[in-house]
Amino acid sequence: MPTIDMDWRIKDLEDLMRDIKRFLKEEFQGEIQKPQPLIKYYWEASRKADCLIRTVLGENGRFPVDIELLAKRLGAKIEIEDLNEFSGWNNMNRIIGQIQIGNNFFTKEKKKTIYADKAAPTSSKRYAIAHEVAHYIMHYDDRDFYEDYCIMPMCPADIEEIVADIFAIFLLIPVRYFFVEFLEYVKYKREEGKIPVTTENWIRYLADISMIPDYYVAYGYQQLRYVAYWIYQAWNDGENVWRSSGKQNVMTDEDREQVRSETEDFYTEEMGELLFE
Ligand SMILES: [Zn+2]
Repeated sequence: MPTIDMDWRIKDLEDLMRDIKRFLKEEFQGEIQKPQPLIKYYWEASRKADCLIRTVLGENGRFPVDIELLAKRLGAKIEIEDLNEFSGWNNMNRIIGQIQIGNNFFTKEKKKTIYADKAAPTSSKRYAIAHEVAHYIMHYDDRDFYEDYCIMPMCPADIEEIVADIFAIFLLIPVRYFFVEFLEYVKYKREEGKIPVTTENWIRYLADISMIPDYYVAYGYQQLRYVAYWIYQAWNDGENVWRSSGKQNVMTDEDREQVRSETEDFYTEEMGELLFE
């Protein structure tokens, strides 16, 4: 990141973090009062993650996203520790991530630390950090916040957990990287004569290059497909948008303009032809 741009970037980053905080804390629950299709929610989450990554890590990134550096540049400290040292013998599940926000008892200094479990594989550590980054954005200016993140398959007890998982996926698999990589993958497979492309191989490949566990990619794949669909509609005049169930599913001219202007630097006609059925 060029130092000359730092000042406006820092100002921008503060606004951006506040905007993402409001979005993560309010919009998912807000759906009940203010109907918004899930597809548009995912699109919004993906473009905010994309904007954050480009502001903090620079414009020309590829997989894997440096999630530790991202967390550090947002002001969090990263520590790798044994997070299961004191858990009992009958604990059902392992803690792989943790976040602690609050004043240090002795120094009174504000502590903002994200922990990842020492024993967890690198890919799980990366996922845990991304999940905690979503909590961090929601709570960085709170007085206190604390949470443990346990490895799947445990079910979420709180809506914030669902929101944090949605955002974590878009941080680790930004939609623009996804499209670029998917096109290269499909073209390569076609040249090798290894078609049709299978879901298992593609998911495993995506997990490898994004450096997160396969099952998290599988979990997040649906939201990536929703966003891909929304982008495709924007470039194809929304001809396939489902119009039968009320106004909120229609892609407006404003939606189309927004999606096109934010994806025109990576979305190509070739992607439209090769990646969609
Ligand atoms: Zn959590």
